[in-house]
Amino acid sequence: MYYKEVNIEKRGEMTAFLKKHLKYHTANSWNNSTSYANNIKLYNIDKPPDISDDIWWQMFELAQWQEKLSDLLEEFGRRHNWLWQAGINGRSGGYIILYRGGIRESGYKSYCTHCGQKNYQVAAEGQVGICGRCEAKARVNFKQTHMQVFTWSGREIDMCENFRNWSLTELRERVELVQNFDKLSDEIAAKYISLCRNYRITEEEILVPKTIKVLEPIGG
Ligand SMILES: [Zn+2]
Repeated sequence: MYYKEVNIEKRGEMTAFLKKHLKYHTANSWNNSTSYANNIKLYNIDKPPDISDDIWWQMFELAQWQEKLSDLLEEFGRRHNWLWQAGINGRSGGYIILYRGGIRESGYKSYCTHCGQKNYQVAAEGQVGICGRCEAKARVNFKQTHMQVFTWSGREIDMCENFRNWSLTELRERVELVQNFDKLSDEIAAKYISLCRNYRITEEEILVPKTIKVLEPIGG
């Protein structure tokens, strides 16, 4: 369990919780900035005895798990209006990190209804533009200003903070945020365990279309 109770009536307890919380590099180790983190490496999570080793170590690489994981991370960002986001960092994705971010205008004015390509140009009033990628005459303007989520992925959070000048309200907000982040880490572990418990991995052959060179007689 990552989540811990904290007494929000006690300044010392809140400060100790924030200062002692695991922190990890937000980007590469050489940029030397860290933020709140949890170690979600598989060996750090208690594997329930009814789950086999095989599935425990293989599930991690499956696309279905990666999708579930990104859904959970996205949900956290959305709940915090993208001002706070959770992401994965570390070799083999072993750490979940708390990031700052936000949402801003992307600058895109139109998009192709055929292939989805976005474009900075406005399609002329009442007209459909040509798509720069697939060349379909299908480029239309966005009805609302197109927004984009951004992440300050290198920025440190409370790395050397001593919290001395923080008000109680500020401290409580930060504790609550980090607790939510810890709850997310618990949800991720629980989701992983439930996937391992309810599915088995089977192999499936897929056909991959491939372009090959062939000889064709000249003149037929
Ligand atoms: Zn297109």
